[in-house]
Amino acid sequence: MERRTVVLYPGIGVGHLVPMIELAKVFLQHGLAVTVALVKPPLEPLDFSATVARFAAANPSINFHVLPSPPPAAAPAGSGSDGTSARPIVRTLRFLKTMNTPFRNFLRSMPSSVHALIIDMFCTDALDVASELRIPAYVFYSSPASTLAVFLYLPSMRDKINTSVGELSDSILHFPGFPPFKASELPQDILDDNEASRLILPTFQRLPESRGILVNTFQSVETRALRALRDGLCVPGGATPPVYYIGPLVSGGGGGDEGHDCLRWLDAQPDSSVVLLSFGSMGTFRKKQLEEIAMGLQKSEQRFLWVVRSPRTDETNLFDPLPEPDLGALLPAGFTEATNGRGLVVKSWAPQVEVLRHRATGAFVTHCGWNSTLESITAGVPLLCWPLYAEQRMNKVLLVEEMKLGVEMRGYDEEVAAAEVEAKIRWVMESEGGQALRQRVATVKDAQQPRRSRMEEARLMQHLSSSSRTCRLRVAWFARDF
Ligand code: UDP
Repeated sequence: MERRTVVLYPGIGVGHLVPMIELAKVFLQHGLAVTVALVKPPLEPLDFSATVARFAAANPSINFHVLPSPPPAAAPAGSGSDGTSARPIVRTLRFLKTMNTPFRNFLRSMPSSVHALIIDMFCTDALDVASELRIPAYVFYSSPASTLAVFLYLPSMRDKINTSVGELSDSILHFPGFPPFKASELPQDILDDNEASRLILPTFQRLPESRGILVNTFQSVETRALRALRDGLCVPGGATPPVYYIGPLVSGGGGGDEGHDCLRWLDAQPDSSVVLLSFGSMGTFRKKQLEEIAMGLQKSEQRFLWVVRSPRTDETNLFDPLPEPDLGALLPAGFTEATNGRGLVVKSWAPQVEVLRHRATGAFVTHCGWNSTLESITAGVPLLCWPLYAEQRMNKVLLVEEMKLGVEMRGYDEEVAAAEVEAKIRWVMESEGGQALRQRVATVKDAQQPRRSRMEEARLMQHLSSSSRTCRLRVAWFARDF
């Protein structure tokens, strides 16, 4: 019998693709065939073809298909009336909108019918393609459920206060499903009343149109959000689609990096003795901030593994490819010699999952990207939170105030001083408070509920089957009428 096919549409960004691949593996385990329809990003910090080749080689049971980019006439223009539309996030969101046509053509060309579509949270325009082709569509939400609660509620709050969210500045916001937080902790692209927010907000506003939302999370640490979503508090006056908590979906490593030199170096370090500093797929710092980190690490006298990237020339362009960092020019004179043997600097990229799971890793200075966060918690490693972009300031609020699995690096908005780097690293590695934090993370890690997540999977599979049946009935009804 022909296997039913699910098509995953991850949009752009490593942080969205990585957990989608893990989701693909879940579908494969349930006997479904999986095709991943990839978008070749207009701007991408990594070598896209090499990344796809690596994923394809590591996952031979998944079909990867790279969608053709739209013809130049349909490609997004570089600037707009408010002068902000040339920003990379805007160009990227506008580019995603142009991908509906190639996506539709690809789905139409598939030899067998598609059982369901799983669409990335930034690709909700593709819901139009799904409804046109009458394929049940679900959204994959790769951030915490608590931020889903906020983004679902945001449009009604905006209507209520009749002002742009950015004007609220430091007022404390109260959203169902999220602890009270400062307006300034919302993502910058939502705070500003410009083309970026005018593209992002409607994208999130369409989330309830999906047949269900799949969230990559640890349910045990998000009970407040789970309750609010369950009780329908986040979509006032509307219906919340079924939400499935199918996380934590964390890459099992195995990306061919097992022999990386930094892992051999970790082998020679004592248990739980090394602090990892790594800032997602796009995080960078100015030279001055790199120097402050270096001085703090040196003074802390702790072991560390630090992933260093070149500073950006245009700080707003997270997608700009970066040259290899020149460590001699970026780090303070004498730093390498002073930390020789107890510190390792890795250029640009490290096998983060393997590093976090290594017995020698004891703490993680992180930008609070949600994948990095899940990878750290599932490895039992406490977090020092240094948010940089996207929804990471909200994730920091959750980690520090709600989940109590991390502490904040003070000054992250402007500059974190060397003294703060030293103090927080010493605190997490040497103090009783740090020990208690490690214990709390270990408890959450051990309390992972694989049974519960299997139940969520089963619930999702059942819904997928029933959605698809309903859809076929609708198609039959539609066909009869025309
Ligand atoms: N990552 C990695 N090595 C690095 C930096 C990042 O393997 O040096 C991986 C990390 O393990 C995670 C992903 O890249 O799976 C980053 O996703 P996250 O959601 O944390 O942040 P984003 O890059 O989306 O901001």
